Amino acid sequence: MKYSILILLISLLASCGNKKSSPVAGEPHQNEIEQNLGFFDSNKKLAAAKLGSPYYSAIRNCALQKLGEGCTPEKVPLLGMKGQEINTKFVLENTIVSHDFLAKNFEEYLNHIDNKYLFALFASVSGIIISDEISASFYYTPTGMIYLNASYLWKTQEEYKKLIFKKDGRYSRDERKKVFTDWDFVKDNKTIYSSYSKKERTISDIKPVLTRLLFHELTHANDVYPINEFDTLDKSKSYYELRTSRYENKEMVSRKIVYPETKKAWEYAIFLIYGELETPESHEFSIEDFYSDFVPNIGIIFYSYITNREHLAMMMENYFMLFTEHFESCTYGKFRENNEKDSQIFWFQKNRILQTNILLEARNAIELMLPTEMAGELNSMNTVFSLETHENIAPDSERQFCKNY
Ligand SMILES: [Zn+2]
Repeated sequence: MKYSILILLISLLASCGNKKSSPVAGEPHQNEIEQNLGFFDSNKKLAAAKLGSPYYSAIRNCALQKLGEGCTPEKVPLLGMKGQEINTKFVLENTIVSHDFLAKNFEEYLNHIDNKYLFALFASVSGIIISDEISASFYYTPTGMIYLNASYLWKTQEEYKKLIFKKDGRYSRDERKKVFTDWDFVKDNKTIYSSYSKKERTISDIKPVLTRLLFHELTHANDVYPINEFDTLDKSKSYYELRTSRYENKEMVSRKIVYPETKKAWEYAIFLIYGELETPESHEFSIEDFYSDFVPNIGIIFYSYITNREHLAMMMENYFMLFTEHFESCTYGKFRENNEKDSQIFWFQKNRILQTNILLEARNAIELMLPTEMAGELNSMNTVFSLETHENIAPDSERQFCKNY
């Protein structure tokens, strides 16, 4: 009963102030996308990342269509439908940018990537847009493209100053949250953000953070259009129509996998993300609830509970980062009495993706999402890393986990 009320509230919220229902109702990152819809309203400069690209005008024509009426696989095919090898040059030919240096830096990044799985995932998008007017990054169903925030791709202060960033709406955190999750990735005792916040950055500084983002956003695209299923798509239909029917017919990967399910954690997660849905019982979540509802379940962090699509993306970014890039994930259970600064870690897990029930579901998702041979190869990879869990960590613990706190 409560589920249906919450779902009704979410859909009401989505249509708030807008008589027509939102083009992204129920989509991953719906809130963030709605803050970015203004991006689609003006005719802005978006240049080809690769001069002379034969795909530029088709991608440019579709990229700013809010409802994506003209965006069909016939007019703007998914990259994997074009019969080309997906390499740096081809990805760039399918990329458009707000500033020329973003293309140059993206090219350098792609040249630094030695990861055939990441390149394979690009098959399921119809284009890549990089602009400083996008914040945060997202996959957009009506166009079939990913929209990336330019903050991932400046190297020098000179470049940074050319970008006019939009505020990222996600960080207006609700201070009433008591129990929450946090996460990070680490390799060689360095977290992915340790050199990311430098004033002058090399591609090596940027690479892990951007790679994590790409695994996440590209998973959203591969969820809708697994590479194996391109032949089954009616290419005259718009991406929006295709997505709608694939969702309703449970053809998307995220509709086939197990969703983290406990009512209490689900309601609490909804409160964390959609604070507006406050009801007295929806934001009570104790540390005991965390141990009984969250820990044994298959959600990577609370964010995984928002939708099955987000759950899939969180599992996949952890899986790809560990098995193909050897970044260990760190998941924290944190408690705060008053505000973020006072928060303390009470639970910590390294490589939560290796928890048996999560690992089995991640492997299942890989099989549903990637071509058989590639999925088999990836799922049989071994890693020297292991699952490590610490419970009931004393507030004054001297232990250092993924990074210093
Ligand atoms: Zn997402």
